[in-house]
Amino acid sequence: MDSKLDADVIVVGGGPTGLMLAGELRLGGASVIVAEALEQPTGQSRALGFTTRALETFDQRGLVPRFGALETSAMGHFGGVPFDYTVLEDANFGARGIPQSQTEAVLERWAGELGADIRRGHTFQALEQDEDGVTVTVSLPDGARRRLRAPYVVGADGARSPVRKAAGIGFPGTAGTQLMYLADVSGSGVRLRPLGERLPLGLVQVFPMPDGVARIILSAYDTTLADHSETPGFDEVAAIWQRVTGEDISGGRALWVSSFTDATRQADRYRQGRVLLAGDAAHIHLPAGGQGMSTGVQDAANLGWKLAATVRGTAPEGLLDTYHDERHPVGARLLSNTRAQGMALFGGDESQALRDLYAELIALEEVRRHLAGAVSHLDIRYDMGAGAHPLAGRRLPPRPLSTGGGPVRTPDLLHPALGVLLDLADAPALRSAAAGWKDRVTTVTAAPDSPDDFGGATALLVRPDGYIAWAGDDPDTLTTALHHWFGTPDPA
Ligand SMILES: Cc1cc2nc3c(=O)[nH]c(=O)nc-3n(C[C@H](O)[C@H](O)[C@H](O)COP(=O)(O)OP(=O)(O)OC[C@H]3O[C@@H](n4cnc5c(N)ncnc54)[C@H](O)[C@@H]3O)c2cc1C
Repeated sequence: MDSKLDADVIVVGGGPTGLMLAGELRLGGASVIVAEALEQPTGQSRALGFTTRALETFDQRGLVPRFGALETSAMGHFGGVPFDYTVLEDANFGARGIPQSQTEAVLERWAGELGADIRRGHTFQALEQDEDGVTVTVSLPDGARRRLRAPYVVGADGARSPVRKAAGIGFPGTAGTQLMYLADVSGSGVRLRPLGERLPLGLVQVFPMPDGVARIILSAYDTTLADHSETPGFDEVAAIWQRVTGEDISGGRALWVSSFTDATRQADRYRQGRVLLAGDAAHIHLPAGGQGMSTGVQDAANLGWKLAATVRGTAPEGLLDTYHDERHPVGARLLSNTRAQGMALFGGDESQALRDLYAELIALEEVRRHLAGAVSHLDIRYDMGAGAHPLAGRRLPPRPLSTGGGPVRTPDLLHPALGVLLDLADAPALRSAAAGWKDRVTTVTAAPDSPDDFGGATALLVRPDGYIAWAGDDPDTLTTALHHWFGTPDPA
């Protein structure tokens, strides 16, 4: 690294997205500074879980045991209409009951162990890009300013993203129209309603949290954004709760009170020169189905290996641009599914026809499978070009394998965040085609436990983010895919 550079990458924002990205960059061999404004974590519970695919993404890095006992929920909903997400193979309504503060603590520790330089009390102020890099100005708690330089900067600095604004990236979309109150309360005796309950005056949800705490979410049909105080007090929430449900929760102890809206926006570009965006900095929406943090974590897994290969100089031409090309459509789809849910969730009689229609459609198995795929994020398929194998672009599903060294699960193969050539038919010609990339692609010869796993494919080339780049039995097309995703082979 050039001695004038402070790191290969500066990540602004040490929330779940920035911390996941920091770990991914370290696994990819890039040095990283995380500049986080807060001197201490907020401790806020916010997100209470992850989608199936986000959980698989953590599994791919061996992080799942760090969360302790995790439970996934089969029953979920779409726009308030309940259904069983296990209708789709491997899908569920996600892991629940894990406060975001815990997720952040797990990721901060992991990224730190991998060597990420996490600098708290570093508030991003400005950036200047030139041909070779980006200089970032941060302010410190004592008011001092410091300049940091790196070839790339990633704004993982949340919905208001000062990095996005400084880079001049637009954030088009729709302003919030609906308001929801939130309170995490202990000792209120409130009854759980994880799938929500529609009452004549409003919509309520109550989720379980650790230590007997309940997460209350509440929207009164007649509360408009004009009545909205951005930081409501618990007495305000308790009064609306009483009006809507008739229940008195004012004797409970509020641990966190907040409010949110259905504002829905997406960055028009995820890359502007040497500045990239990820997580809430790139997309905001109604938190229906608990998908926001989960999408940020997956943005990080998509970007990390590509950006690390770029700064290491091994990336093929155009690799970094595939981050926008792949993740922007995923973000757009997320905005669309949460908007569609919001339209059914909110409102009184005027939106009843839409709810009735959703209920009729969700009675159809094909529709349930479709919606489970969208909200679990298992249906993501990146574009691998015309004529690609049906598995190409899809995730590598978690499956048991037998290898010469004993049984393994597919996610275990991805722990080092390298590419994997999964040789399922002991094919020496394929192994030898991949030999030139052995610093970037591990070759594993294995037998699936079930012949139906992996659609009977002879071999799979899997990217570090767990997506299948190629499937087949032809060494020539494998070689093309290796060049395309991993660059030129090592001449040695
Ligand atoms: C009520 C609610 C429930 C939710 N439930 C779920 C759920 O169950 N599952 C789910 O997946 N998602 C959920 N979400 C969404 C989730 O909370 C967000 O998507 C997630 O926090 C985004 O993570 P992030 O790291 O991208 O951004 P953030 O968490 O916003 O982190 C950004 C970081 O950048 C820092 N920062 C900001 N400005 C600067 C600056 N100038 N300099 C340096 N640092 C800066 C901030 O301090 C912060 O630490 C929920 C959201 C809400 C409101």
